[in-house]
Amino acid sequence: MIGRAIQRAGKYPAAVLAGARAKSASSGVRTPRETADAVVIGAGVVGLSVARELARRGRDVLVVEAAPTFGTGTSSRNSEVIHAGIYYSPKSLKANLCVRGRELLYRYCYDRGIPYKQLGKLIVATSSAEMPKLEQILGRGLENGVHDLRMLESSQAMGMEPELQCVQALLSPSSGIIDSHSLMLSLVGEAENYGATFCYKSTVIGGHFEDNTLHLQFSESKDLGNYDEESPLEPQLIIVPKIVINSAGLSALPLAKRFQGLDHGFISSPFYARGCYFMLSMMKAPFSRLIYPIPEDGGLGVHVTLDLNGQVKFGPDVEWIDGVDDISSFLNRFDYSVKSDRSARFYPEIRKYFPKLSDGSLVPGYSGIRPKLSGQGQPPADFVIQGEEIHGISGLVNLFGIESPGLTSSLAIAEYVASMLGV
Ligand SMILES: Cc1cc2nc3c(=O)[nH]c(=O)nc-3n(C[C@H](O)[C@H](O)[C@H](O)COP(=O)(O)OP(=O)(O)OC[C@H]3O[C@@H](n4cnc5c(N)ncnc54)[C@H](O)[C@@H]3O)c2cc1C
Repeated sequence: MIGRAIQRAGKYPAAVLAGARAKSASSGVRTPRETADAVVIGAGVVGLSVARELARRGRDVLVVEAAPTFGTGTSSRNSEVIHAGIYYSPKSLKANLCVRGRELLYRYCYDRGIPYKQLGKLIVATSSAEMPKLEQILGRGLENGVHDLRMLESSQAMGMEPELQCVQALLSPSSGIIDSHSLMLSLVGEAENYGATFCYKSTVIGGHFEDNTLHLQFSESKDLGNYDEESPLEPQLIIVPKIVINSAGLSALPLAKRFQGLDHGFISSPFYARGCYFMLSMMKAPFSRLIYPIPEDGGLGVHVTLDLNGQVKFGPDVEWIDGVDDISSFLNRFDYSVKSDRSARFYPEIRKYFPKLSDGSLVPGYSGIRPKLSGQGQPPADFVIQGEEIHGISGLVNLFGIESPGLTSSLAIAEYVASMLGV
């Protein structure tokens, strides 16, 4: 597949590509290798944004994706909320890239007719004990440059949203929702128009260094399907790019650990937290804005999100889970099932701010998994965007822990990565 895609783009000699599919080191023949300008690993919203930005700035970009198409990972398993940038530590990457990314995203969607809606959001205190936390959130939001926040009395908030129960609320007018699939489709189209090549069903299985240059090892994803950890994993093709962006989402850390020669001191352990959503059935949408409780450990709390069709969903909760082995993670073999009995924990949480939620109205929806850099009970970690100044490898950028607000920040992450590389 990788051979065919590159061949279609007319960038590499056909003989090499035919060889890429047929030969492997285990057959006694040297694994075929080629050079490339920039390789982006992973076609989620972040990889796509980076690919478009690098291609727009004149680089020759190859996007490699293990799945049969773009956006099948976390980028299609989230709340689709455009965050204002309120919660994150001041001056952190999350704060800066979310605020910048939100501005870029609204402009991008407006200019291109991508469906979005700036609904606004209410963060609600449901007991007087939570009111100081709301004040802290306001202070933090202002520090982060979110200047349109407004503290509301309960009567004002409940006047705006008659089904809501709260003692105080913080209004964030610049929060909104987006059709993330349309966004990704647009990013793919623009990246292609700027000359980027997409190669699906192809997995980066590792890498090694020669002459301080990263040699990426590829395999067709289908050939990894029956892989058992006992047998050696042989690459079918090696590509030697000038630039490598590791935007493999949930797999970014396990993949970096497979770059032999990269100092593992810079690669932390991954943590994973599943978030399940339940859909509201049998009731018409009770709210016209996003409603968020006070954040909890590991997430933003079981909140109300609306999609652009008016469907209401509640979630995501936080369930710390173990990862899977590397190859299964590259193939996205995580457990995304939503057990219906989890709803028992949703009802009391939601009824704190939506007391009229009726029994039996929540049905299992979908789930997503957060790629986290800190575990249960630890303080939240910032995004990690690692370039040469950290790990010493020219042209390699690792994107670790790109959890929420990664969708909102995607265009700003792309800008940041391009300028880090001096592109
Ligand atoms: C429950 C939940 C709710 C969220 N809600 C929001 C929200 O409302 N707003 C917001 O801003 N953000 C939100 N986020 C965060 C946001 O969804 C992510 O930050 C963003 O989607 C990450 O995009 P990505 O491109 O880094 O990763 P992904 O979308 O996971 O893409 C990574 C890609 O890499 C591919 N890949 C993996 N390994 C390999 C390999 N070895 N070779 C080739 N390809 C590989 C995968 O197949 C995948 O397609 C949420 C996240 C979760 C989990």
